Amino acid sequence: MTKPPIDPTAAASGSFAQSVERHFPGALPSGDYLQRVRRTIEPLGFLPSRTLPLVSICRDELTTTFFDAIEHEWGLAFTLAGLGGVPALGRTGWKAALSHVPDVDGRGSVLVFGFPHIGIEADGTIGVTVRRGQMSPTATCGALASIFDLAQAGQLPTEIDFDDFEATRLAIRLVDRRVPPASLVDLTVSALDALEVDLWRAIDEAQVWRDHDVTIWCGVQIHAHGEQDWIWPRDAWYAGSDGHRRRFPPDGGPV
Ligand SMILES: [Zn+2]
Repeated sequence: MTKPPIDPTAAASGSFAQSVERHFPGALPSGDYLQRVRRTIEPLGFLPSRTLPLVSICRDELTTTFFDAIEHEWGLAFTLAGLGGVPALGRTGWKAALSHVPDVDGRGSVLVFGFPHIGIEADGTIGVTVRRGQMSPTATCGALASIFDLAQAGQLPTEIDFDDFEATRLAIRLVDRRVPPASLVDLTVSALDALEVDLWRAIDEAQVWRDHDVTIWCGVQIHAHGEQDWIWPRDAWYAGSDGHRRRFPPDGGPV
């Protein structure tokens, strides 16, 4: 992992709760979030037996608790993302993922989760996590923190490096070199914006909703001290056979 980022808004300012309230108001424990998802989509026919979960989250080991919780609820999930949580599987990966949707009951369903992630320590410091077995905090998300530092230093990559494929592609995808992000939070939200665009582009290009019901749930995964996971829920949609996107209210409930 890289060193913690040089972020002017990252200085400790009190507590985890204060930083969450300031930057990610409405965040809730990840278990409560998954219950909200299930409560919202089950009435629309999204049942584990006919649903394939597709998950776009960072490679970081901290994200896997959430990934495991999704699989516990919904069954084995296909991984969409690389570093930073933005889909990195390409056309071939999408084709594979979408060929795995259950169809024994006719129309299947696709449940997509998309989350960049960020650490917030107990003292409210943003962008870091004290990991198990370590004495000092490291950057979370390490990939986004690295891109943030390169942007501040004016050293962003201008082309994809095949030996550092995911990070260089992510930097080019997320950051306008003329306008470096003001904070790691801003860059994290840019990653969320990008992954939502990329998820919908792939779903719409393949017209997945013709054969399967589709629901997409996106936000930011927040790691609190002691491996507690929180979710900032920003967007959630449903698309049936007409392909029309219907947005769920922020707290779940009927479309
Ligand atoms: Zn990460």
